[in-house]
Amino acid sequence: MALKFCPKCGNMLIPKREGEKFYGECGKCGFSKELKVLKTRENLEPKKKVGRGVAKEGNPMATYLNKCPKCGYDKAQIIDMGIFYSDEDNLILLKCGKCGHSERIGRKTS
Ligand SMILES: [Zn+2]
Ligand SMILES: [Zn+2]
Repeated sequence: MALKFCPKCGNMLIPKREGEKFYGECGKCGFSKELKVLKTRENLEPKKKVGRGVAKEGNPMATYLNKCPKCGYDKAQIIDMGIFYSDEDNLILLKCGKCGHSERIGRKTS
């Protein structure tokens, strides 16, 4: 549970970031406490480069040719589901570079 109010004066704590750590600081009495931040999927996703010619339009991560069924945009970002679910490493997610529509498909081996 994240601390939101100062235990001393009851003022709302202002979230502050210092490097990898997060603090909640009271603007009234100066109280501060390190906050435990839950890891989000963004934090878990490794920054790996897609070894292909990157198009300089829309989402720069969207390099996979896949026509979006929603908006018709022809490039999607590949999200490897194996990062999140180690027992399902044969699944990838294609996320539209334009509207963000995503579909779950099996990994293509060829
Ligand atoms: Zn305070
Ligand atoms: Zn789309």
